[in-house]
Amino acid sequence: MYDIIRCKRSGGELTDEQIGFFIDGFTNGSIPDYQASALLMAICIRGMTERETATLTDRMSKSGDTVDLSRFGELSADKHSTGGVGDKTTLIVAPIVASLGGKMAKMSGRGLGHTGGTVDKLESIPGYRTSLSPDEFLGQVERIGISVIGQSGNLTPADKKLYALRDVTGTVDSVPLITSSIMSKKLAAGAHNIVLDVKVGSGAFMKTPEDAKTLAGEMVKIGNRCGRRVRAVMTDMDTPLGAAVGNSLEVIESVRVLRGECPGDLCEVSVALATQIVALTFGEPEAEAEAKVREAISSGAAFAKMKEWISAQGGDVRYLDDPDLFPKARYSREVRAAEDGFIVSTDAEMIGSASVTLGSGRVSKEDSIDHSAGIMLERKTGDRVARGDVICTLLTNDEHSLDAAESKILHAVKIGAEPPAPRPLVFGIVS
Ligand code: URA
Repeated sequence: MYDIIRCKRSGGELTDEQIGFFIDGFTNGSIPDYQASALLMAICIRGMTERETATLTDRMSKSGDTVDLSRFGELSADKHSTGGVGDKTTLIVAPIVASLGGKMAKMSGRGLGHTGGTVDKLESIPGYRTSLSPDEFLGQVERIGISVIGQSGNLTPADKKLYALRDVTGTVDSVPLITSSIMSKKLAAGAHNIVLDVKVGSGAFMKTPEDAKTLAGEMVKIGNRCGRRVRAVMTDMDTPLGAAVGNSLEVIESVRVLRGECPGDLCEVSVALATQIVALTFGEPEAEAEAKVREAISSGAAFAKMKEWISAQGGDVRYLDDPDLFPKARYSREVRAAEDGFIVSTDAEMIGSASVTLGSGRVSKEDSIDHSAGIMLERKTGDRVARGDVICTLLTNDEHSLDAAESKILHAVKIGAEPPAPRPLVFGIVS
């Protein structure tokens, strides 16, 4: 390990054997954290070649359990978002793709920090089971084309250990390390077609389109090298996606998109992602794939598929037909504009943090969450506001959290005299 650290420290290229030795030894505990930390820092500073990153990804993906989706041939599909605020696109995209014949066998994570997790959102639906046996999971995908469960305990243990170490050693934001972390989980989860939603902006890891493109390009190349079909869509995360931030609030907003009641940024980003999955999975031109995706929404087929999916996993679909059934938070507060003007920016990370303060997310892994807490944004970046207009409504069961959350919102939302330059929702596609 000493030689491996010195090789990378001086800018050398590690062999496949050296990378394998590191991943095996770190996963089984024979390589201590201090040596792994030194190597991570050297990788952060010196980078890795495409071959090194591919080997690292491959070895990490095989460090624990893997899911075999080969029975679905080339129809298995997965999506991954690099993380955002108000990002509930899995709840919308997965049933769209399944309604068109794709096989969405998806494992999702819980939220930590300012970003929410799909599993927490789904658990706000009474009865929904996020933990299924492998036979139940695959059987459901076979029958109805879709299942979304929590990530299994032993999927990519190397990534779990490495990520925890990166988090405390200043080594998270390195392209080869992010690439291997994300792609190892996607490879282990087994799908043949993978669409990556690489977020760009204040609420994302990648703050600029250039950085997002570099990461997207690397992830696509590594996925292809490892035998999967991969595309990346770079989408805006400068401002939260949609109007709802918080678990049941986001489920309700997703239902509204699938019922065709909610045009706007969330619907358009979901259509863009679903289009890429359909185009990749069925080998169709983008225009045809997009027409099918829009038809799946307008015909009600995607919403019917969502209900079939939620019901198959034990969820009470009456909540989807009548979202008023979801329990409401006891306390609410409207946050109002302090001056006339235009909203020039809405710091997504800060909005996510305000929502966590209200109880919708976790600060540490053990925290429990309040499914009805969160934020409904009434105005977004680019909107004109007059002094006293409601910018957003805070919802919580903890009255004492309201002051701190309001102060975060007032920091997050900047009002100016001129409207901001428009930003695209989709910055580009890398394939
Ligand atoms: N998401 C991951 O899963 N891993 C990273 O390294 C960064 C984002």
